[in-house]
Amino acid sequence: MKAVVCDTLPAILGGPAVRGAEFPSWPPQEPEIVAALEDCFRSGQWGRYHGKCSERLIAALSQFHAAAHVVLTCSGTMAGELALRGLNIGPGDEVILAAYDFKANIQNVLAVGATPVLIDVDPVTGQLDVNQVPAAITERTRAVIASHLHGNCVDLAGLRNSLDGSRVAIIEDACQLPGAMIGGLRAGMTGDVGYLSFGGSKLLSAGRGGAVLTNREDVVTRIRRHSFRGNDAFPLSELQAAVVLPQLQTLDLLRQQRQQAVADLCEALSTVAGLRVVCQQPEATSGSHSPDFYKVALEYDASAFAGLSRDAFAAAMQAEGIPLFPAFPGLHQTHARRRFRATGLLSHATRIAAGWLVLHHPFLLAGAEGIGDLLRAVAKIQASADELRQQPGLITSEFVSPWEGGA
Ligand SMILES: *Cc1c(COP(=O)(O)O)cnc(C)c1O
Repeated sequence: MKAVVCDTLPAILGGPAVRGAEFPSWPPQEPEIVAALEDCFRSGQWGRYHGKCSERLIAALSQFHAAAHVVLTCSGTMAGELALRGLNIGPGDEVILAAYDFKANIQNVLAVGATPVLIDVDPVTGQLDVNQVPAAITERTRAVIASHLHGNCVDLAGLRNSLDGSRVAIIEDACQLPGAMIGGLRAGMTGDVGYLSFGGSKLLSAGRGGAVLTNREDVVTRIRRHSFRGNDAFPLSELQAAVVLPQLQTLDLLRQQRQQAVADLCEALSTVAGLRVVCQQPEATSGSHSPDFYKVALEYDASAFAGLSRDAFAAAMQAEGIPLFPAFPGLHQTHARRRFRATGLLSHATRIAAGWLVLHHPFLLAGAEGIGDLLRAVAKIQASADELRQQPGLITSEFVSPWEGGA
C-alpha cells in the first residue's frame, strides 16, 4: 500500500522517490541457478578448463541456436574481437559499422588493426541503415557489423541484398537480444559469425563472459588457433558456465514477458507528451520475428518538459527509482577523426545520441506496477520541469552505470 503524502517534490530536489522498491534484482537469483552453481562446485571439478559445465553449455547453446560451433569467451567484447580474427580481418582491411553503436565494436576493429568505416543509422529505428552500406563499400571492405540495439533489429534481409554478389561478411552482434528470432533464425545466426555477451547486466548473465557462434569451420579454426596459448587465453570458467545454462532454459519465457511489458509501455506512453517508445513493428512479433529488450529505446522531446535537458530528465527519473539512462554517444563523437573513415553526415546517429533514452530491462519484469511508477515519475517531473530546468547543478555526477558500458 502506498502512503498518500505530499509527494509532488521531485526526489532529485529532496522529495520522496516514487519507487521505493527495487526492480527485480539482476542477475537473477532463481533457485535453479543457485542449484546449478552448487552442483558444479560440489562436483569438485570446477577448476578444470574445459570441464562438464562448459561442455554442457556449449551443447545447449549449439542446439538452441542451431550453430555448428560455439566458443565460450571471457566477455562479449572479446567474442567480437575473435569474430573479426576468425574472418582473418586485419591491417589494410575495412569494417563497416553504425556510427551509433556500443563502443566495443569500433574498438575491436581498431584492436585487430583494421579501419572502421562508420555509416548512419535508420532515422526511425536507430539501427545500422542497410541502404547506406553500398556507398561505404570499397575493395578493402571485409565485413559489416550488424549490431541489434535497444530492442530493435538490423534489417538483415536488406543487408544481405545490399551485399549481394560481394564477398563482404556479416558479423552479427546479438549481445542485447540473445535468443531473439530474426527472420526465422536465432539472433547471431544469420551472418557468417555472431556473438553473445554474458556480462553482469545482460539478459543471459554470468557476471562476465560471452560466446562466438558460427557455422563456418574456417572461422572457428582461426579463433581456436588465435586463442590457444598453452591453454585458452580468453576463457569462460566452469562456475560461470554453470549459471548460464538454467537461464537459457527460461529465456524464451522471459522474452515473452518483456515483449508484453514493452507493448503495455507503448500503450501507456501513447497519451504522454514528450516520451515515445521506439518500437519497430511491435505488431509484427511472431514465431519468426521475436525481439528482446536488454534496453528499451525512448525518444525524448524536451519541449514537452519545459526545455529540461535529456540528461537532467534521466537524472531526475533515476532519483525517482526508474532505471532510465541517456543513449550512447555517437562513435564519431568519441573517437578522433583519424581513427575511422565515415560516409555521409551521420546526422541521425548524432540526433539519436543526443535525444534518446534507454530503459534497463529489469524494469520490464515488474509488470503493470513498474509502468504505473514510471508514469507517476514522469508526471511529477513534468509538473516541476520548469523548476528543474533552472537548477544548474542538477547533474552533479557523471552517469555511471554499475556495469561499465551499461547503456
Ligand atoms: C554488452 C555489449 C557487448 C559486449 O559487452 P561485454 O561487457 O564485453 O560482454 C557488445 N555489444 C553490445 C551491443 C553490447 O550491448
